[in-house]
Amino acid sequence: MGVMRVVVASSNEGKVREIRHVLEPLGWEVVRAADVGREALEVDETGETFLENALIKARAYAEAFDCPALADDSGLEVDALEGAPGVRSARYAGEPTDDAANNAKLLAALDGVPAAERTARFRCVMALVWPDRRVLAADGVCEGRIGYEPRGTGGFGYDPLFLPDAAPGKTMAELSPDEKSAISHRGAALRALRDALEQTGLADG
Ligand code: IMP
Repeated sequence: MGVMRVVVASSNEGKVREIRHVLEPLGWEVVRAADVGREALEVDETGETFLENALIKARAYAEAFDCPALADDSGLEVDALEGAPGVRSARYAGEPTDDAANNAKLLAALDGVPAAERTARFRCVMALVWPDRRVLAADGVCEGRIGYEPRGTGGFGYDPLFLPDAAPGKTMAELSPDEKSAISHRGAALRALRDALEQTGLADG
């Protein structure tokens, strides 16, 4: 696979860090708008699914930057809340987005809900769009439960409250970057995207 330069359609530092962590060792060059002296685009996430929102963002960036664009749309689905906050995870507690406020709101919404009913999953869709509008998308899921208090300083977003099934006794925020990537929805989506790229040969075209 040739070197792939992509602009990442996000200014969420946590996401960008995790995307780079997986793709840079594969020889991808991942740039943000600011890295090429441009302002991030204001893109309205009007979709009702992670895929729709990822495509909206990636298409806008591919067109504006005239290079392949990678967008992540992701969020947390809590079973006891019928899948909320879902596509509204970033702005669950209102805007501007605030991780601590989101976590506090989630804990309040689950007040009195027993451990066995606190099942949840992170979901991530990665979309790669070329300026000629070709599209490749992949998704990933990470199953777990919501804890009772925030723990850990790694990651971002809901990580301090999320207890992944794959890391017993730890929150996502207590994992190293390598440990998180190995089990996370984002790591899974990125690996699936890489595999799809290799299979289609799109990386070179
Ligand atoms: P988006 O920018 O609209 O895709 O919103 C994603 C939101 O989902 C983030 O702001 C977080 O609140 C949440 N989220 C997505 N992925 C993660 C993760 O890996 N850890 C913690 N929270 C996440």
